[in-house]
Amino acid sequence: MTTKTKRDYYEVLGVERTCTEVELKSAYRKLAMQYHPDRNPGNAEAEEKFKEASEAYSVLSDANKRASYDRFGHAATNGAGFGGFESVDINDIFGDLFGDLFGAGGRGGRRSRAQRGNDLREDLRLTFEEAVFGVKKQVKIRRFEACEACDGRGLAPGKSATTCSGCQGRGQVRFQQGFFSVARTCPQCQGAGQIITDPCTKCKGDGRLLHERTLDVQVPAGVEDGTRIRYGDQGEAGMNGGPAGDLYVVLHVKEHAFFEREGNDLYCAIPVSFPQLALGTEINVPTIHGDHKLKVPEGTQPGTRFRIRSKGVPVLNSSQKGDLYVEVRAQTPSKLNKRQRELLQELDALSSVENKPQKNLFNKVKDIFG
Ligand SMILES: [Zn+2]
Ligand SMILES: [Zn+2]
Repeated sequence: MTTKTKRDYYEVLGVERTCTEVELKSAYRKLAMQYHPDRNPGNAEAEEKFKEASEAYSVLSDANKRASYDRFGHAATNGAGFGGFESVDINDIFGDLFGDLFGAGGRGGRRSRAQRGNDLREDLRLTFEEAVFGVKKQVKIRRFEACEACDGRGLAPGKSATTCSGCQGRGQVRFQQGFFSVARTCPQCQGAGQIITDPCTKCKGDGRLLHERTLDVQVPAGVEDGTRIRYGDQGEAGMNGGPAGDLYVVLHVKEHAFFEREGNDLYCAIPVSFPQLALGTEINVPTIHGDHKLKVPEGTQPGTRFRIRSKGVPVLNSSQKGDLYVEVRAQTPSKLNKRQRELLQELDALSSVENKPQKNLFNKVKDIFG
């Protein structure tokens, strides 16, 4: 090998970019059989090829990693995105692959190592105002946490685990399968490499206990229905020294009786009388930030929408706010007293035909039908 530029993973495996999982697996299997170190003792080039193929397969066989690789190429594998697949355990892939091939346990043959704890999800109901202004709430959760008595190790105090005799602590056993030596999870210790003979009495050797906890949740101003707040490492404790999972608090926001929310903007409708629209007026608009005086100019048409800046919902993690849109709705009085009736009749009589809204409409209709 002269240059150290990394070859394209698809090229390494000799497959099309569109290849299926099955094609991928079969391509890798072929290469792995050809270059497996046990079959090429002392052959550095074969070992290199085996590693190259294994790396390519470890990335492309994972749908997420493959998608990243397709988009960013090798750059995707160097960043944090892949969580360091360089440390990938070739035996892991290999065991998995050949588990299928030889029918010796299939997927169950994977080594079980440190396991990340489960993510938890809690639902939290909020009023409209709580979502707009933010609120401090408490949520009750039930989760498995590391046992305090044994520090999550599952051992009785002062006792230590004994190294598994089946695998000498490696967690896996290798056996010869035709040409290959295949790694399997040790059946005696389930991959832990150790056997607990004196388990912690509190957790019975599990290392975890179910706890009920009350957590403070600070809901920031401006959250929406469906917003998820993530609390890293607040999920369930991991197993065998694995990291804890995350806690997701999913927010459910109640609708408001008066305001309708769209993103950070709010919408409402205010009933106004016909004379107010005709003469112009100033109305008091209730906003979530207090009352606001809105000038309705003379001759405003019903249904006109006014925008009041910055009287909407705060933008999450920002000092900005959305706007409030106010629609003025004309209200026709349903009951008139005598005086009101007279005045309206007088007004109607005074309005010249030209000013009546129907006049224009009639002309338009005439235009349309000739
Ligand atoms: Zn314990
Ligand atoms: Zn073992």
